[in-house]
Amino acid sequence: MTKIFDLTGKTAIVTGANTGIGQGIALALAAAGANIAAVGRSAATETVDKARALGVQAEIVSADLSTIEPVGRVVDETVEKLGGLDILVNNAGIIRRNDSLDFTEEDWDAVIDTNLKSVFFLCQAAGRHMAAQGRGKIINIASMLSFQGGIRVPSYTASKSGVAGLTKLLACEWAAKGINVNAIAPGYIATNNTTALQADETRNRQIVERIPAGRWGDPADLGGAAVFLASSAADYVQGHILAVDGGWLAR
Ligand code: NAP
Repeated sequence: MTKIFDLTGKTAIVTGANTGIGQGIALALAAAGANIAAVGRSAATETVDKARALGVQAEIVSADLSTIEPVGRVVDETVEKLGGLDILVNNAGIIRRNDSLDFTEEDWDAVIDTNLKSVFFLCQAAGRHMAAQGRGKIINIASMLSFQGGIRVPSYTASKSGVAGLTKLLACEWAAKGINVNAIAPGYIATNNTTALQADETRNRQIVERIPAGRWGDPADLGGAAVFLASSAADYVQGHILAVDGGWLAR
């Protein structure tokens, strides 16, 4: 039974792997046997050291994904350093908060460029490699705001709703090519991205009260879903947005 979740010998790109959810997912994939290309603008030294301690190969691939300039090189460098590419996890992302009446074009473009445009073009670069080899797994990181509106984060909601739509479109186009495209929608996870919310006593209490599990998620909570979607256990799962949210959407 465990064999269908085994990733031994597979190679995974994880973007934004130095911290938070990206680090949690990279280490879960490594624990399942995958070699890791830790992609990001900050060196993922800790992630790479921890992955190697789990007995897999791990390499840093430097890339600033605020533009699509590095996407082709990210795939080429991964293949060069680790000998292949089987799994892509599009995790790197940013958020900007302001009232919609005051929201700037800069805050719109920055979030859409990183969270949506670079995600599509990295899917495309990896997808070309995966289509040629006839197999691959792509996991995009969506959000509760792929389903809900939220407030004061218009470009973030637009980007994550876009990621959900894009995931379904790519699944439709690439399923017959042997590529599975799915997404994970994390609930409220304790990372740098949510420090401000955790520090705000009122918001923190309101959030925890609304989560059926009664606690913030930890980056490690995303690991099982990522291993599943990256493995042969998910070969017939396509275009699914898997919420890992302590029950937030169920309420
Ligand atoms: P985080 O700790 O802030 O991590 C974000 C990651 O993205 C970091 O590795 C960051 O690198 C990287 N990144 C940002 N801009 C980049 C760029 N231009 N080029 C390369 N890498 C870049 O936040 P997180 O919570 O783990 O977020 C990870 C993903 O989960 C994001 O897509 C986020 O939207 C999503 N998400 C988070 C939550 C949550 O509750 N935390 C909920 C739903 C979805 P640096 O360290 O160099 O900035």
